[in-house]
Amino acid sequence: ESTPPAHFLRQIVQADLQSGKHTKIVTRFPPEPNGYLHIGHAKSICLNFGLAQEFGGECHLRFDDTNPAKEEQEYIDAIKQDVEWLGFQWSGDVRYASDYFDQLHVWAIELIKSGKAYVCDLTPEQAREYRGNLTEPGKNSPFRDRSVEENLDLFARMTAGEFPDGAKALRAKIDMAAPNMNLRDPILYRIRHAHHHQTGDKWCIYPSYDFTHGQSDAIELITHSICTLEFEDHRPLYEWFLDNLPVPAKPRQYEFARLNLNYTVTSKRKLKQLVDEGHVNGWDDPRMSTLSAFRRRGYTPASIREFCERIGVTRSDAVVDMGMLEFCIRDDLDNNAPRAMCVLRPLKVTITNYPEGQVENLSLPRHPKQDMGERVLPFSRELYIDQDDYMVDPPKGYKRLVPGGEVRLRGSYVIRADEAITDAEGNIVELLCSYDPDTLGKNPEGRKVKGVIHWVPAADSVECEVRLYDRLFNAANPDKGEEGGTFLDNINPDSLVVLKGCRAEPSLATATAEERFQFEREGYFCADSKDSRPGNLVFNRTVTLRDSWGQ
Ligand code: ATP
Ligand code: MG
Ligand code: MG
Repeated sequence: ESTPPAHFLRQIVQADLQSGKHTKIVTRFPPEPNGYLHIGHAKSICLNFGLAQEFGGECHLRFDDTNPAKEEQEYIDAIKQDVEWLGFQWSGDVRYASDYFDQLHVWAIELIKSGKAYVCDLTPEQAREYRGNLTEPGKNSPFRDRSVEENLDLFARMTAGEFPDGAKALRAKIDMAAPNMNLRDPILYRIRHAHHHQTGDKWCIYPSYDFTHGQSDAIELITHSICTLEFEDHRPLYEWFLDNLPVPAKPRQYEFARLNLNYTVTSKRKLKQLVDEGHVNGWDDPRMSTLSAFRRRGYTPASIREFCERIGVTRSDAVVDMGMLEFCIRDDLDNNAPRAMCVLRPLKVTITNYPEGQVENLSLPRHPKQDMGERVLPFSRELYIDQDDYMVDPPKGYKRLVPGGEVRLRGSYVIRADEAITDAEGNIVELLCSYDPDTLGKNPEGRKVKGVIHWVPAADSVECEVRLYDRLFNAANPDKGEEGGTFLDNINPDSLVVLKGCRAEPSLATATAEERFQFEREGYFCADSKDSRPGNLVFNRTVTLRDSWGQ
């Protein structure tokens, strides 16, 4: 992997360690468990865990679980698995913002006691009206001047469950005319009679994201709290809480630009919609942008880490080309995936001058550059080649098999197409060919044979299913639907092609879940982790051999 460029966060950390501001850094990755992690999260994971690793610090995994209605244990389990799969380990136990609900509640009461928080009875709609907008200052809530005693009593009753959802909220008393909307008396607690996956039925009020995040950072002695740019406007509020509460430390928040990838959506809400409405087959459908989908599709953790390093960390929003991610996985698999042959659309070939019953076991290297040993391909009278590798009326430049023409079978002999056998409808069902016995490992005498095609033996190859994936969206920016439509309008109806009856060379018969290969001339593939097993092989195409995104 390349040497890391000195992006601005790396420089900040370096400076803080050099100046002695910190002797050790502590970062955190704080997902909300309301969906599976996507490729955007990988950037945040690599950044937070990566910095900790690089500078001998620690990185926490903390679930930001303040919204029980949308959160589930399934997501918690998947997120932990994805972080580990990417190659990172959090320090200590997994943490939850809900671990700090007791402390946050105590701090809320302290704010009430010091006159900095009040219970407000405005409905959410009224509160929105009172809040004003970017050009107009807000108005004070009529409940803003309640006495400390009344506020303490009402907050206690909110906590005890006396009021229905939304009837009241606890708000900070900051400034309804602040130019920064986040400072216009933000909500600290909402009433929500909901079961929580960690705290059960203990609470019927839940702290807001803003009231939770910075204080959780402080409790965990986070030194650098790194988040995406949309939280820049929240930073004054983040600091207001730390300045007005007896927190054990004062972490600093830093923002960076989120990752956007073209032809892709990276929003858990939209990904969940794709799953819930059946546009894809689950969160790990290989067409999704989730980490579990990339994994199932055959991406390696190293390729995703390399991608995150290459795109860098900046403070300006940009859209990264999908081709960059594909470059990273191609590069990795080119170096590390063993080669094999698989015929996706088989056409039977009979070598008429090859003796019946004779078999030659040909040895081919598993990899052209790395020492991965050899694989054996039995060559005999009956083989399969791909239907696309024989054409009666070939276009100019076609170097494969044509009537009367010659081609080399990869790692084997040169054959000539003598006759095509067709069925009643005129479809070619078999080729009768002859081979030149003097061409194994050497050029034929007196003529040039340019084309090389892949093949498998008929008898010893194994039948398999191959799934070819294309981009899930046809638009570079799928978030914009048609006039009045949604991102769903941009779904590519041809994003999945399932080929059955493909033929794989014998060495693939023992492929295990997630094992990766280059199928020569076809692309990079991996055995599907859910559906593939010996006797019923299923391969996913990870990526084609060449970039096709620019077209
Ligand atoms: P989503 O909109 O998909 O739900 P989110 O930001 O709400 O994303 P969180 O679970 O809160 O999701 O994210 C955890 C961390 O990952 C946050 O620090 C967030 O800033 C970061 N993150 C999320 N999406 C991206 C992205 N596209 N690029 C970089 N970091 C991201
Ligand atoms: Mg979030
Ligand atoms: Mg979100």
